[in-house]
Amino acid sequence: MPVCRDVIAVVGAGSVGSVTAWWLARCGAQVVWLAPDASLERPGSLAALGVLMGHCSRRLRGRSWRLRRTSLALWRQWLPLLGPVPQQWGLTVLCHQADEVERLQALVRQRQGEGVPLAWRTRGELLNRWPALASSDLQGGLWSPQDGQLDPAPLLAALAGAAERLGVQRRPAQVTGLQPEGKNWRLQLQARDPDCPTTLLASAVVLCTGLGAGRLLAALNSSSLDSAIRLNWPMTPVLGQAAELHCPMLPPQGLPGPVVWRGVHLIPRLQDQRLWIGATVEPGDQSQVQCFDQMLGLDGAAPPWLRQAQVLGRWQGVRARPAGRPAPLLATLAPGVLLTSGHYRNGILLAPATAVWTGRQLGFPAPDAP
Ligand SMILES: Cc1cc2nc3c(=O)[nH]c(=O)nc-3n(C[C@H](O)[C@H](O)[C@H](O)COP(=O)(O)OP(=O)(O)OC[C@H]3O[C@@H](n4cnc5c(N)ncnc54)[C@H](O)[C@@H]3O)c2cc1C
Repeated sequence: MPVCRDVIAVVGAGSVGSVTAWWLARCGAQVVWLAPDASLERPGSLAALGVLMGHCSRRLRGRSWRLRRTSLALWRQWLPLLGPVPQQWGLTVLCHQADEVERLQALVRQRQGEGVPLAWRTRGELLNRWPALASSDLQGGLWSPQDGQLDPAPLLAALAGAAERLGVQRRPAQVTGLQPEGKNWRLQLQARDPDCPTTLLASAVVLCTGLGAGRLLAALNSSSLDSAIRLNWPMTPVLGQAAELHCPMLPPQGLPGPVVWRGVHLIPRLQDQRLWIGATVEPGDQSQVQCFDQMLGLDGAAPPWLRQAQVLGRWQGVRARPAGRPAPLLATLAPGVLLTSGHYRNGILLAPATAVWTGRQLGFPAPDAP
C-alpha cells in the first residue's frame, strides 16, 4: 500500500486538477493524481471552448480581476513548457449598445493606466477589415491582444504528459471516502483496474472535483473532525451547449480571431470556414432545444452567413457554480484538505492561478525557472 507522509493527493482530471497536479510536481511535491478515466466520467473541462477572458473582463479590481490577470500571465509562461497546444491570442468583444460605449472606453483607459494592453476599435475600423461583423447596431469593440483561446482536449493531454514526465503517479480512481488518520488523510479509492490500490494515505488532499466535491464532502466523517470545520460548500449545475459550424457564406476575411458577439463566443478553427460557437447558460443539468437555437441565431441578430451555417457537431457540459459565494471556491477545509472547485464559466482561464494558490497554501516555494 503506498504510504508516504509527504504524498499530495490531487483529485480530479479536469483543467483544475490537471494544472494543479503538474504545478505541484514542478514545485517539488510528490503527487498522486486521482484522475478518473474520461471515458467513464467526462470532465466538464472537455466541453469548454477554452476562451481566456482575462483583461477584457469588466471587473476593475478585487479577487476575480487578480485571478484573471495572474492566470493569463501564467498561461503565457507555462504553455511553452507543455508541448504543442492549439492556441489563439487576441480576443474581440463586440459592443451593440450605444449606452455601453462610454463604459467600455473607460475600462480601456483604466486598463491602459495599469499597463494592460486593451484597446477600443471603432465600428468603422472593425467593418473595414472584417465585413463578417456587419450588423446595424454595431458600436465598436474591445480588442484584447493578450486574451485568447486554448483547445481544451489537447491542453489536458499535454498537461497529463508533462505531469507524467515530472513523476506524477496517475491513478484512474474515484475517491469514495476521506478521513483523518493522525496528521494525514486516508482516501478510499474505487477503480476498475485491479492493480489500483483501494486506499491511499496522503499528507494533503486537493479536491479539484467540480460538482463532485459535494458528494465527497458529504462522505467525510464530520464526527472525527474539529467542529469549526465547514463542509457545506454548495454548488449548482449550469449546463452549456456548444457546436462546430461550417459557414460557406463567411466573407473571405473571416473573423479577427475569437469573437464575443452578444455574449456568444465564435472561435475560428484551423479549417477554413469552420467555427466553434458556444455556449448556452442553462440552470440545471438538462439541455433545452430553444436555448441552443437562440444561441445559434444570436438571439435573432445573426448575420446571413451565420444563419446559413451548417451544424457539423454539437456537445454539452455542466459547469459548477458556487451557491451564494463568488466563483471559484478556494478554501482550506481542514489542515491538509483544500477545496479548489466551482470555477463556473472560467475553469480553463483560472486553472493556473488556482494551482499557484494551492502550492502556496501547502507551503511549496515556486521553482526558480517558471
Ligand atoms: C459548454 C461549455 C463551455 C465552456 N467554455 C469555457 C471557456 O471558454 N473558458 C473557460 O475558462 N471555461 C469554460 N467553461 C467552464 C469550464 O469548463 C469549467 O469551469 C471547468 O471545466 C472546471 O474545471 P474543473 O477541473 O473544476 O472541473 P471538471 O472539468 O468538471 O473536472 C472535475 C473532475 O473531478 C472528477 N471527480 C469528481 N468527483 C470525483 C471523485 N469523487 N473522485 C475522483 N474524481 C472526481 C471528475 O471525474 C472530473 O475529472 C465552459 C463550460 C462549458 C460546459
